Amino acid sequence: MTGIVVVSHSRRLAEGVAELATQMTQGKANIAIAAGIDDPENPIGTDAIAVMGAIEEVCDDDGVVVLMDLGSALLSTEMAIELIDPEVAEKVKLVSAPVVEGTLAASVAAAAGLDIDTVISEAKAALGVKQEHLGETDDSVAPEVAVQSASDALSFEWQVENPHGIHARPAASIVGAVAAFNCDMWLIKGDKEVSAKSLNSIAKLAVSKGESICFKASGDNAQGAIDAFKQLAHTHFGEADLVNNPQPEPETEQVASAPSHQAIKGAITGLSVNGGIVTGPAVLFSASMPDVPNRSCASIADEQSHFTQSIETVSASLKQQASEPHGEIFQAHLLMLNDPELLASVQTRIAQNVIAEQAWVEVTQQLALEYSQAESAYMQEREADVHDIACQVMRVMTGDTDAGITLSEPSILLARDLMPSDVAGLDKSLVLAICLSEGGKTSHSAILARAMGIPAIVQAKGCLEEIQAGQHISVDGFSGLLWHSPDSDTSAELEQKRQQWLAECEAAKANAQSQAATLDGLEIQSLANIGGPEDVQAALDNGAEGVGLFRTEFLFQSRDTLPSEDEQTEVYLGIAKAFGDKPITIRSLDVGGDKPLKAYPMPVEENPFLGLRGVRLCLAHKDLFVDQIRAVLRAHAQQPNIQLMIPMIATVDEIHQVKALVEEQKQALGLQESNLPVGIMIEVPAAVLNADALAKEVDFFSIGTNDLTQYVMAADRGNTDVATLVNYFEPAVLSAIEITCKAAKNAGIAVSMCGEMAGDTKATETLLKLGLTKFSASSTLLPALKQTVRGISLATTETV
Ligand code: PEP
Ligand code: MG
Repeated sequence: MTGIVVVSHSRRLAEGVAELATQMTQGKANIAIAAGIDDPENPIGTDAIAVMGAIEEVCDDDGVVVLMDLGSALLSTEMAIELIDPEVAEKVKLVSAPVVEGTLAASVAAAAGLDIDTVISEAKAALGVKQEHLGETDDSVAPEVAVQSASDALSFEWQVENPHGIHARPAASIVGAVAAFNCDMWLIKGDKEVSAKSLNSIAKLAVSKGESICFKASGDNAQGAIDAFKQLAHTHFGEADLVNNPQPEPETEQVASAPSHQAIKGAITGLSVNGGIVTGPAVLFSASMPDVPNRSCASIADEQSHFTQSIETVSASLKQQASEPHGEIFQAHLLMLNDPELLASVQTRIAQNVIAEQAWVEVTQQLALEYSQAESAYMQEREADVHDIACQVMRVMTGDTDAGITLSEPSILLARDLMPSDVAGLDKSLVLAICLSEGGKTSHSAILARAMGIPAIVQAKGCLEEIQAGQHISVDGFSGLLWHSPDSDTSAELEQKRQQWLAECEAAKANAQSQAATLDGLEIQSLANIGGPEDVQAALDNGAEGVGLFRTEFLFQSRDTLPSEDEQTEVYLGIAKAFGDKPITIRSLDVGGDKPLKAYPMPVEENPFLGLRGVRLCLAHKDLFVDQIRAVLRAHAQQPNIQLMIPMIATVDEIHQVKALVEEQKQALGLQESNLPVGIMIEVPAAVLNADALAKEVDFFSIGTNDLTQYVMAADRGNTDVATLVNYFEPAVLSAIEITCKAAKNAGIAVSMCGEMAGDTKATETLLKLGLTKFSASSTLLPALKQTVRGISLATTETV
């Protein structure tokens, strides 16, 4: 049945609407609400994460219709759609229908089992009766005029119908569609003219619904660019869906309403971002931009190359982060960083004999200022993103690598605002809570804090001034309160609330410690993906029954020197000991063109994902590989729960070469008797097609669906333009998994999965049916994975 989601600023309003619809359909409609925010002082507002939750709650194969009240309800919903699993996002339709009438009509149609298109048209027609009654009519306009300008530039005019105008996403579509053309291009609104290749500039034009824009192109294949733009315009810059369901004119968006700051004795009030109650010492962090060095411009060419190299370094790291969970934020930063207009402005300043750092700071400060003055709150919050990329580039340019947050004990982190890169790089085990004096509920750092499960509040005005470093404070993430001097009654109340919260967390985790089995008794092994020793405790706490993937590249990346054989041995041993006799799968170094090693520079490749990565690089640079093999062999001699896994294997010859190296090092170390299991990742289509032959050579397979999906679908896993293709539910990917499982079964070797799909509970039943019984995922996903397994029955399914 089509699900219905009501997004409103007011929880009471949404509950009332849902109640009406439920009554009208005798409880048959599948309705969820996402309304209000978790702040008792100031409950009016909308929250993208809540919208995601509501969509997931009611989504099934028939799709979901979302009705929103106004303003930021639309933006929160759009953000939720951007963040949600693309497979779910595809099934979600946003409709412009009025919330009350539309929800009622949609619910009735959905409850009657009508298809989603009918549900939508019912919702949209819902106002008709009232309009007719009041004698109102609806006029719509369809504007488009193609003109040729007086100069040699070709031009095309368009009246924008997108409900939110040309905001960041349509702007990105424009850049994506035309940037490849070699000619000069401009986008013009009134007397403002900007480069059509610049995301920032287009967004700053602030084109609203109903306004006319003119796209001009001049030079080589200008006609091609015009055609491309025209085609895109006809799809409403990728928002045809929203436009074809025209929405009421949104009210000017309100800046995320500030908390009332009603004085609460002993506390600072903020907005709740993530629940939880903690007490601990305060650490005050100020994300300072490294100073511009005091030097003069030696040579313009040197300054330009210094700048370009720094941009490349930051781009490579953003690209890496973009391919990880919650990577969309970093993908947006990548786009912003490589904005041609931004880069050109810096190069222009450098050409005027300004040193690269100074030029970069000047240009990005101006850009941040422009964002901060934007009309929409969403665009204003992008100021923090500009600041983030600006700092990252400055850190690289100045070599100031100590600017990040380092915590030595569990602490409550106080800052004005945090950059996504700061939050992503936090040692989660030491962050008790995050408390920001600025920030918004939709800021990227808030989203990341929530995703990482850290109690957090924002807009706690004055916290940096009133709190001293080291002072013991309490944060109530549920109420958005920071307590610096609670009276004894409040302390007791807080403690009681905290104990209750801890008990609930404990209960959830307690269940996570027992092994999961399906209803018909098939036992499943739930393993953790880790990046280093810092992840071990969380893995154990979340009930990991071993490590299915230890991404050792985290030991190597962002270091100035390579970790020695001894150092690696210590790390591997430490982790293996922590897990007792549970299996530890150490993946050999998986770096390459897209994941550069600072301590081992390699040439930039044209097609890094098809280049010297994973085992290919290790076999080409045996010095790197041999140290690691020796470290694994030595650790295994003491901890037999260790096994070695090789990434990116495509051919039998590659595994022969690896095995020969392992044998050679066994001899060299006097460990001839070692029975170190050696397995491979199945993540390259050739490995799937060679699976029978490979299975005869190795001790186990582990399916890496992240890469397998990108290679099977020929769709870059970090490129949002092809994100819908990077879908592990595609039949071709499922077939590849099935072939792999069968080959493993025939050869009698174990097969597991360690790509993101393994932790996706929507895939669990399918994977069990394909014969998988070993899953390796981020440890925070394991409790839910186990719960899902416990609800599945496979009575008639044959398994490996
Ligand atoms: C994979 O490709 O699925 C995988 C687990 O490896 P990574 O994400 O590290 O490439
Ligand atoms: Mg991989």
